[in-house]
Amino acid sequence: MAGLGKTAGVVIVGGGHAGGRTAERLRHGGFVGSIDVIGIEKELPYERPPLSKSVLTSTETPTNAYLLPSAKWTEIGVTFHTGVEATAIDRQTKSVALEGRNPLAYRKLVLATGLSPRRIATLEPVADRIAYLRSFEDALSLRSRILPGSSIVLVGAGLIGLEVAASAAKLDAHVTVLEAADRPLSRLLPSYLSQWIAQVHERAGVRILCGRQIAAAESLGGRACLHIDDGSQLQVDLVLVGIGGTPNDRLAREAGLDIDNGIVVNAFGQTSDPDIFAAGDVAVHENPVFGRRWRLESWKNAEDQAAMVASYLCGQPTPYGEVPWFWTDQYDLNIQVAGLLSAGGPTYERGKPGERAYLAYFTEAERLIGAVGVGCGRDIRIAREIIKAGGKLDATDLVRKGLAPFSASPARRAS
Ligand code: FAD
Repeated sequence: MAGLGKTAGVVIVGGGHAGGRTAERLRHGGFVGSIDVIGIEKELPYERPPLSKSVLTSTETPTNAYLLPSAKWTEIGVTFHTGVEATAIDRQTKSVALEGRNPLAYRKLVLATGLSPRRIATLEPVADRIAYLRSFEDALSLRSRILPGSSIVLVGAGLIGLEVAASAAKLDAHVTVLEAADRPLSRLLPSYLSQWIAQVHERAGVRILCGRQIAAAESLGGRACLHIDDGSQLQVDLVLVGIGGTPNDRLAREAGLDIDNGIVVNAFGQTSDPDIFAAGDVAVHENPVFGRRWRLESWKNAEDQAAMVASYLCGQPTPYGEVPWFWTDQYDLNIQVAGLLSAGGPTYERGKPGERAYLAYFTEAERLIGAVGVGCGRDIRIAREIIKAGGKLDATDLVRKGLAPFSASPARRAS
């Protein structure tokens, strides 16, 4: 292949958030070689958080939240191969095979291939009534199908399911959320906050059914008839499946890289092959703040890991040391979580979850390990800084912030 190993620069597989940001950061960091981004989607890199929120509810025609305007990419010299799938990595020749095109040589390769939504086989008989949400295209299609008065089932009371539930309720659809676990957001929030968020949805007219799964599905009179495992039935116009995703790590796996529910990377985003890096939802890192292996699925992580990989490739290695952080917007609530919400040690809180500027601190061995806030982004930013710096808590600081030991019952405290 022409130029292999000589003119080859950085090739990025995945033109989403982490891939696009890596390309931009490389240029800002002074990288002068070629940068090629390969993406299955036809869109240039964009941010996904609006897809379950404003893209569904805005009264205007939604626009995509691009990382950069297309002219800017040309200006900084990043070449996009959109609508193209990378199909294999050849580590011997250092090249990436592309669907329907010649292979592309790399000096360094970055894998930022994200996730694919998990599917539910039992829903196959009603495939024409099923929706998934990952791309802008998915969001536009979903938007056109959420009609006032239509009935929608959201499978999975995770972040995407509940955000779409809030959006669909705003659009006057009849919304039911089906969740296999005993409470919504069970992997992210302690149970007292799950109960609170469930009440918020119920007040908006959303029905949340926990501990239930779809046993079978059939088409009936132009609708989907869902047979629930408690013996009941739901007849609906649309089913959105939001039960999480699986990391797109096939290329890395087939190339023999270390995999552990995602592509394993070190503190610089480097995989088990020193010329191959990974970033974003697909990457599994050792988190130095918490001393555990983690694969994060959040906007902030896509930003941080893109910066980590680009800084290494620009010769200014900065080891990763971030505190996990994500937010979710549901109705007029902004909920933010930093670190780990567990009740290993005393918990402190300010206000009540339904009130504005609710804040809770979670501790372990007298150190702050996690915080959750509703409508208080600044407090969560400060909490992140405290956690990152080792989590040392200052009693006067707690008082100044209005944080007091949890007043709740032992049952609530323990959950
Ligand atoms: P992606 O942005 O998904 O990009 C991966 C890209 O790689 C995709 O375009 C894919 O098509 C492409 N690709 C995969 N395989 C190949 C291949 N073989 N060849 C070429 N291209 C390939 N996070 C928050 O913190 N707060 C939020 O409120 C929030 N809301 C969200 C709402 C929705 C609906 C979604 C889907 C996500 C949300 N997130 C949120 C999460 C956040 O958007 C993701 O963590 C982030 O997009 C991850 O970036 P990524 O680059 O790893 O993956």
